[in-house]
This record gives sequence, C-alpha cells and structure tokens, in this order.
Amino acid sequence: MSEPKDNPLMEKIVSLCKRRGFIFQSSEIYGGINGFWDYGPLGAELRRNIRDRWWNDMVRNRDDVVGIESSIIMHPKVWEASGHVAGFNDPMVDCKVSKQRFRADQLFFARVDVIAEQADAANAQTIGYVSALESEQTEGELQEKALELKRKKAVRGQLAPIAPLDFTQAKPEEIPLIPSPATGEPGSLTPPRAFNMMLQTYIGALRDESAVAYLRPETAQGMFADFKAVVDTGRVKIPFGIAQIGKSFRNEITPRNFIFRSREFEQMEMEYFISDEDDWAKWHRHWIDWCRDWLVSVGIPAAQLSEYNHPKEKLSHYSRGTTDIMFNYPFGVQELWGIAARGNYDLSQHAKFSGVSLEYFDETAKRKYVPHVIEPAVGVDRILLAILCSAYCEDEAPDEKGKMETRVVLRFAPRIAPIKVAVFPLLKNKPELVARAKAVRDLLRPHMNVFYDEAGAIGRRYRRQDEVGTPFCVTIDFDTLGEKGDDLKDTVTLRDRDTMKQDRLKISELLAFLLSKIR
Ligand code: ATP
Repeated sequence: MSEPKDNPLMEKIVSLCKRRGFIFQSSEIYGGINGFWDYGPLGAELRRNIRDRWWNDMVRNRDDVVGIESSIIMHPKVWEASGHVAGFNDPMVDCKVSKQRFRADQLFFARVDVIAEQADAANAQTIGYVSALESEQTEGELQEKALELKRKKAVRGQLAPIAPLDFTQAKPEEIPLIPSPATGEPGSLTPPRAFNMMLQTYIGALRDESAVAYLRPETAQGMFADFKAVVDTGRVKIPFGIAQIGKSFRNEITPRNFIFRSREFEQMEMEYFISDEDDWAKWHRHWIDWCRDWLVSVGIPAAQLSEYNHPKEKLSHYSRGTTDIMFNYPFGVQELWGIAARGNYDLSQHAKFSGVSLEYFDETAKRKYVPHVIEPAVGVDRILLAILCSAYCEDEAPDEKGKMETRVVLRFAPRIAPIKVAVFPLLKNKPELVARAKAVRDLLRPHMNVFYDEAGAIGRRYRRQDEVGTPFCVTIDFDTLGEKGDDLKDTVTLRDRDTMKQDRLKISELLAFLLSKIR
C-alpha cells in the first residue's frame, strides 16, 4: 500500500484509524494480507451505523422495497448467466523481474520525443519511454521522468509534449521498450492478459471441475435469483425493489488506497424493478438523487460529491445508462456509488440459463413481461472512507494551561458517530461522583452507544473523544451532587465537540436532548 505514504492526509487518516481502533490490517501479526482489512471496536460501530441507517431508509421506511439475505456461494450457473465467468476480467500485466502485478488500465506510459533545435515537430527523435502508476499526479510524474531521461541520454533539443496512454493501448512493439514502474527498466513487462476477478473455491470432497464454486463478486445476483421467490410470496407489486447488504469478494489485481479497493468488502445493493413500459430515465434520476441525498444525510458534504455519466460507447450492450456518484477522496475523485439502468438483461439471462420463467404478471393490465431494473450499488467501506475523510479536521484548542495546541477532531454527523456520548466523573477518586456518573451511563446506555471514562484530566478526556468523533461529553461534578445549592443539583455539563461550548443541563432532560440530536 504505497499511496497513503505519498499523501499526507491519507497517512494521517490511516494512522488515526489504527491508533484509535477503527481499522487494522487483517492478520497483522503475520505480516498482513494484501487487500483485506479488519474493523476494530470503533470501526465496527461506525460500519454498523452506516448499514443500519441504509437498511432503515432503504427498506424499513419504504413500502416498495423489501430486504433479503442470500448466500455468498451460489450455484455456479448464476455466474455463467450473469456474465461473470466469461467477462468479469481486468487486464493484468506482470513485471517478470520484480514479480509485481499491475492493472494495465492503471499503468500509464508515454513516448519521449525530442525535437532538435531548428527542427520541426515532425522530425522529433524518440529517445525512449517512461511509465507511472495511476495517481493524481500521473501526468506530472511522466513529465518529470521524461526530462530525467533526456538528461540521462544527454540529448540536445526540446522535449515534445507527452501524450500519456494506459498500457492496454501499448502496441506490441512498444511493450519491450516501456519501463516497469517497479524497476524503472524496460523489458520486463508482459503483454496485458485477461484476469478473472472471481475468487474460486471447491464444494464437497472432490477437487475437480464439477466442484468449482465462486465467492460472489457482487450481491446483486442474489436479488435476481430470488426474484421469483419474492414475487411469489405476494408482498410486492411493480414498481418495487429488493435490497441486500452483504460481503462480496473480488480478486483485485492491485488492491489500494486503504479500504477503497479491497478483495473482501461489503456491498449495499438494491434492484428496483419497473415495468418495461415505464420511463427508465425518470427512475434512474430518482435513484441518483436519492443516493446523493442519503450520502449528505450521513454527513458527507454535497460539495464533495459529483456525478460521472459513463459514455454510451463504454456501456455494456444491455445497459441503458450508468451514473456514478463520485467522491473527492484525498487520492482523487473516485467512484463511490454506481447507479445503473440495466434493462431486463439480468432476469432474461437467468430465465434462459435456469429454464424458469421470470416474467411478472401485471394483474391490472392482464399482461406478462420481464421487468426492467435500476440498480444503485454501493460499498459500505467506500462510504465509511468518504465519511472518515470528510470528518477529519485539525483545529486549535487550548490545553490544560490555556496554551493553544492542534486538536484532531472527527466531525462525524451525530447519527453516524460510533460513540454518541461520553460520560465522565470529574474525579475518579470520589465515589459519589463515580456512582452518579455510572448511573447516568446506565440511563443512556439502552438508547445509544455510551463510553464511560474516568482516566486522566478532563481536558485530555475531551481530546480523546474529539479524536474519535464523539459529538457530546457529559461531566458529573460537585454541582451535580448539589454542593453549590439546589439550582445546579442534578444537572451535568454537556460539552459539544464542534463548538467546544459547555452547557448545564438537567439529568432528567439529557436523554431527550441527546435522542433529538442523534436521530
Ligand atoms: P471500480 O470501477 O472502482 O472497480 P466497479 O464499477 O467495478 O468499481 P461495481 O461493480 O459497480 O464497481 O460495484 C458497486 C460498488 O461496490 C462500487 O460503487 C463500490 O462502492 C463498491 N466496490 C466495488 N469494488 C470494490 C472493491 N474492490 N473494494 C471496495 N468496494 C468496492
């Protein structure tokens, strides 16, 4: 994982995630395993909040969407029908010297031409090739390497403008001349070849072809395969959706950018079935807007989001249109949520491969047809990363002695924050304060995730909570016990993470106040 090291903001986020128990490398005690991540105590809470909120908004709070949970390993024919066995490929390139593997469409190269003094561009001399992996700075990096090459070869003249191409566009005669990004030397890169990204396993005792099965690369096919079963249970009428949250697996050639591209990840997908005569573009727009609004509702600023419409010529033959909601990650603007209008391709394919009719009977129109589908598909991990990146903030706050210091704060939307409130007794060696603080913790605990902390100075405890994004801290002090009279008795200090303001609130009003903020 080279990227975070080249990106100061990502480096800070990755290190905070590790230090405070959001995200760890999987199997770290064994040196880790590339493309797999574990979520620690805070990360697990954050993920759960994202999932629960999506499920509530997408399924429970709607009349037209139902949820399912299908198995991760499905009948292998599912993946033949869906096109994944034949077509779920990425072009892969090997470096024979370093043994590193790259995705050809993420490896860029440029021919380096030098125009001799007084000559015109048509008489440029090619002095070699340069290469770089895709990043925010690919073009700048290629330009620098081109200059370096010219210096090394001591060629006089002016560098012609470079035209970066990805490796899938390299001509066969160019491949031996393009340097490997791993070694900087030409001659070790193989031509690109298709690499199927499905992870394979075997079912049962035999290890032959007949026992091959796949870990699902997307959850969507579960919805198509169960379409008939859901319709037959009689609860749904077109237009309606089937949603699911679950793990998916892709043998990504180059997992990277922390949890952005991993080999095991979690998806939240919904297939919205509409009539073949309905206006698909209207529904497509509806779901793009819904997804955007939902991202904003979990604390992602609208200004960080944009839309990318896949060009018609790059769409699969059955696709009517695909729009990605993009997020401005620290490593570049990248796909967060894909919303695809897939026609009736998936259901038709499954009908063909299974021999079972997947037509829908419209009771009112007395007509049978194969429904069309709009699919919003998103990864929990990509949302979580977008939330972390939008929430990360450094500002200034006074330390114990009033000296200003840098404060790291995760400004999570309270409804998504892993810990909603931290409860502190002012001093840990005063049993009355501790007992009162524990009583407040127990009062709030059935309703939200509460963290109790009695260790260290109060300012330090606030900072620890700021760093993990806890929106509220409650301190029980001597005023709570009534030492300054009845007015302040049974009140607590409520401290706001973002404004750092402290207010006095009655314990009897605390729960209602916090619930109003975290819903
Ligand atoms: P990409 O082009 O980034 O590989 P994709 O277009 O193949 O993504 P889809 O097949 O549309 O992705 O998957 C739907 C969603 O699942 C994506 O928008 C993304 O949020 C998530 N996703 C896909 N692949 C990964 C991965 N390797 N790691 C984490 N999330 C992923």
